[in-house]
Amino acid sequence: MSLSKLPRRVRVIEVGPRDGFQMESRFVPTDRKVEVIEQLAAAGLVAIEATSFVHPRVIPQMADAAEVMAAIRDRQGVRWIALVPNLKGAERAIAAGAHEVRLVVCATEAYNQRNVGLTIDESASRFATIAERAAVASVSATVVFGVALGCPIEGDVPVDHVASLAERFVALGASEVGIADSYGLSNPVHVREAVRAVRSAIGDRILWLHLHDTRGLGLANALAAMQEGVDAFDTAFGGLGGTPIMKGASGNIATEDLVYMCHEMGIETGVDLARVRAVSASIQDWLGRTLPSHVLGAGTRDELMALNRD
Ligand code: ZN
Repeated sequence: MSLSKLPRRVRVIEVGPRDGFQMESRFVPTDRKVEVIEQLAAAGLVAIEATSFVHPRVIPQMADAAEVMAAIRDRQGVRWIALVPNLKGAERAIAAGAHEVRLVVCATEAYNQRNVGLTIDESASRFATIAERAAVASVSATVVFGVALGCPIEGDVPVDHVASLAERFVALGASEVGIADSYGLSNPVHVREAVRAVRSAIGDRILWLHLHDTRGLGLANALAAMQEGVDAFDTAFGGLGGTPIMKGASGNIATEDLVYMCHEMGIETGVDLARVRAVSASIQDWLGRTLPSHVLGAGTRDELMALNRD
C-alpha cells in the first residue's frame, strides 16, 4: 500500500462541546461552554458540533442549546453543527442558526431500540422529515450511524448492511454520512473494509468517521480510514466523550492527538495544536481529572527535543 494515498488535508470536526460535555455529570455553565467553543473556533476548528437539541429531561447538560447557539451563531467562518433527535429538535436548531443538523441512527435494530426506542425504518422516516425541513431552510441534514463498526448488543455489524444504510439515507437527503465506532470495537482492517463498502455505495466525499479510543485503536483506525481516502473525522478536545446509553463507552479520539498525527505526517488540518491543547488543559483543570488525550499529557515531539536540548 502506498502512503501517497493519504489525503493532503484532513477536516477535523470538533464534537467535544456536545459528545464530551453531555457525558459530564456536573453542569457546565452556559458561558463556560460558549467560551470553550469560541476558543476552539479561534484554534482553527471550522466545523464544531456545538450542542444537541435533545429534550432537557433526556440530557440536562444540553438544556441550554438555544442559548449556546445564540451566543456563537454570528461568528463567521465556522460551520455550526447541532445534534437533533427529531423534527422538533431540528426546527429549534434551524431557528437557532445551525448550519447542519445531525441525526444519530444506530446501525443495529437492538441498539436503535435501546437508544431512541425506534426501529431503523422509523428513524429513516424521521430523518426524511428532518431533511425536508432542513432543505427548505438551506441547512444541511446529515446522519451518523452509531455502533456501525461494532455493537455492544449484536456484536459484528456486516459492512454491507452499513453500506446499504448509507445509501438509503443519502437517497433520503443526507448530504454527508458518518459512521461511528461508538464503543471502540473496530480495528484497522475492519475499518478499511467498512469504508470501502460504504464508499462504493455513496462515493468519496461525503463520508466521515466518528471513532472512539476505548481500546487504544482510535488513531490506528483513523489512519486506516485515511488510507482508504477518508479525510474527515469527528474528534473531541481532551479526548472527552462517550455515550450515556450503556456502560463501557469512553472518549472520542482527542482532537489534539489526531491533529498531532496529521501534522507529523505532513497532512494539513488548519488547526493550531497549541491552542487546542490550551483549551483541553483548562477544561481538565476545571473538571479536576486527567483527560485521556495523549498529546495533552505528553506534549509534542518538538517540546521533548527542546527539553533535552537544555
Ligand atoms: Zn462519540
